[in-house]
Amino acid sequence: MLDKPKNTRDDIEGLIYGSVATDISVPKLRMPESGLRSDIAHALVRDELFLDGNARQNLATFCQTYLNDDIHHLMDMSIDKNMIDKDEYPATAELENRCVHILADLWHSPEPTTTPGCSTTGSSEACMLGGLALKHKWRDRMRAAGKPTDKPNIVTGPVQVCWHKFARYFDVELREIPLERGRLGMTPEEALKRVDENTIGVMPTFGVTFTCQYEPVAEVAQALDRLARDQGLDIPIHVDGASGGFVAPFVEPDLIWDFRIPRVRSINASGHKYGLAPLGVGWVVWREKSDLPEDLIFYVNYLGGNMPTFALNFSRPGGQIISQYYLFLRLGREGYRRIQQNGYDTAQFIAAEMPKLGPFEILFDGDSRKGIPAVSWTIKAGSNPGYTLFDLSERLRMRGWQVAAYTMLPNIADLVVMRLLMRNGFSRDMADMLVEDIRRSISHLKKHPVTTPLTPAEGTTFTHHALPKEKLPT
Ligand SMILES: *Cc1c(COP(=O)(O)O)cnc(C)c1O
Repeated sequence: MLDKPKNTRDDIEGLIYGSVATDISVPKLRMPESGLRSDIAHALVRDELFLDGNARQNLATFCQTYLNDDIHHLMDMSIDKNMIDKDEYPATAELENRCVHILADLWHSPEPTTTPGCSTTGSSEACMLGGLALKHKWRDRMRAAGKPTDKPNIVTGPVQVCWHKFARYFDVELREIPLERGRLGMTPEEALKRVDENTIGVMPTFGVTFTCQYEPVAEVAQALDRLARDQGLDIPIHVDGASGGFVAPFVEPDLIWDFRIPRVRSINASGHKYGLAPLGVGWVVWREKSDLPEDLIFYVNYLGGNMPTFALNFSRPGGQIISQYYLFLRLGREGYRRIQQNGYDTAQFIAAEMPKLGPFEILFDGDSRKGIPAVSWTIKAGSNPGYTLFDLSERLRMRGWQVAAYTMLPNIADLVVMRLLMRNGFSRDMADMLVEDIRRSISHLKKHPVTTPLTPAEGTTFTHHALPKEKLPT
């Protein structure tokens, strides 16, 4: 159909539906010989997208889904700018630079105006860069001591998939502390058990994907301080603050997890998660200039001179960075504090409601000292309500809500969790709507008990875990 000449009557009348093009199925895996009228092509693509979920109702994602008109405008203005072209777009480069130093200051860098850092496509790239810097620093130390450099390792708690990727892509052994009932993250003791002279760094997560909780950065640092004193083994820390890095500084400024701890040498965070920027921006900041090895730096032209860069990508859009700077100005610390505090308040409201609706045990209640603005629960041990959390998740999808239900990692893979992330744009009123829909879904499931509950592999889990093959649920 697409290969036939245009129906000129359609062109005159401007019909979309009723035109020949929308009568016939378009070829899916082959480019048409000739194109379509722009309004028809636009309609076809837009209509395909109806099958996507509604992003604002997606409570499984950590990423930003609420973006105001100013951000749309700034994104539109910068759609044609490549942020790597620092010479051509020096103003964008300047805003990126300001963001780095704003974050260095927010995270209490001892040298916030000069310390190195950069934007990335997200925390994944930021973690890779943090990990690579540590790997090179370690290799230099080992070489200087005349020791072998073929077996680097990192020690982590239950980590986001980016650290699995870092380990695999860059040939580093991942020593991941397994979860146990009653210990859902890294502890100083468990970290110490796994470090040795080949450990390039310990990576606590400040806002664990699976549990929403903060791993105890300060305690782990103290344990490593003792190790350095007693055994001369000096192991640096990189904090994966993908979510927490944009939350704790505003809501819990006294919580010590950042560069106030000398052993913390680098920190990453996702601008597009609780940083509130549109998708496609992350940040990594190093403590001091000497924490970023010179051999990882490349130089690009900038205002008649050279500018150091460190990145896995070359070309990248600039709008997300520009929007991040806009948000820093627009909201200030007070604005970020209020938005994130609202998230905690809503999480606590839902945590109080859930036990009234069914046999649910709250695992994370939205305590701002312990983790990010989120709430999670499981079905109480020993109770069998006749449905699983996978069934409940699927039922909620009928009303458009996307709610993560997933099994915890190996060791406690029988623990099934439902998790809601509270983000900017999820109001208390929407929470009322959701709670009502959970109540309605549960009463439906009670009336029509599930004879064959969904298994973890079948459940629509929205976990954002992206697993390597051997870790897929069965
Ligand atoms: C989301 C997340 C990542 C990956 O970040 P992206 O911005 O999605 O690339 C890494 N670590 C943690 C703890 C995360 O929550």
